[in-house]
Amino acid sequence: MVEGILRRIRDFIHEYGGEVLSLSPDQLHFVDQSRLTEQERANVARAGERGFYIADTQKVVVLAEGSPLRDAETVVHELFHANSFGSYALEGTELTNRRIGLRIFREEGESVYLDRLDEAVVEELTKRFDGAHFGGIPGLAGEVARREEFRSRANAEADEIASVVTREVRPGEWRTVIYPYAYGEERRQLWRIIDEICAAPASMEVGREDVFRAFAGAMFTGRLTPVARLVERTYGKGSFAEFADSPNGVQR
Ligand SMILES: [Zn+2]
Repeated sequence: MVEGILRRIRDFIHEYGGEVLSLSPDQLHFVDQSRLTEQERANVARAGERGFYIADTQKVVVLAEGSPLRDAETVVHELFHANSFGSYALEGTELTNRRIGLRIFREEGESVYLDRLDEAVVEELTKRFDGAHFGGIPGLAGEVARREEFRSRANAEADEIASVVTREVRPGEWRTVIYPYAYGEERRQLWRIIDEICAAPASMEVGREDVFRAFAGAMFTGRLTPVARLVERTYGKGSFAEFADSPNGVQR
């Protein structure tokens, strides 16, 4: 599954304007959650993610859940973080993160801005990568087919169903859980901003996909100017500074 993802993700990231780190399967570490200490588990829960990327050692850690499809979603999500733009600042003798993707760190790495927007772009790309490639990756095809079955019976938002996992909770007792893609609220907010940008009189008929690609490009390359220009054109001069200062982007 990992090789299948790594083979395909390079072109995908290029398509959105990003550069790819050299990535090899041994940089990915799958951790059995039941073997974590209580403290480790608490740290992971606080981050709200099922995996994380350690920039210093270029390692992606995935908290395995026993479903290859669900783990693949985590792998791809974390690989996008790993390949997003990084800039560092020297504060005293310590190197701290100034930017990762769309995130902006201030006050010695304490405050984070645009982190929700960063997650929205990362998960939107994850969903797109899934749709384009997961069905063709050995080890995932079975779960993807079962997901299709559930999607075909869903009343609304069928494409939001990311995985369907059946687990034995007690001997002889099975439970099926339907998981949506992560950061649903953040992605809705992202598309609301994109729609407002497209609807603005000064937008010059820019399309939704172009605007999304401006956000994705900014995340991968660190070049914020195209996004800043779109935001200023929509919300007025000086609005990007305000936009960057609010944790969720636009707060009105
Ligand atoms: Zn994330």
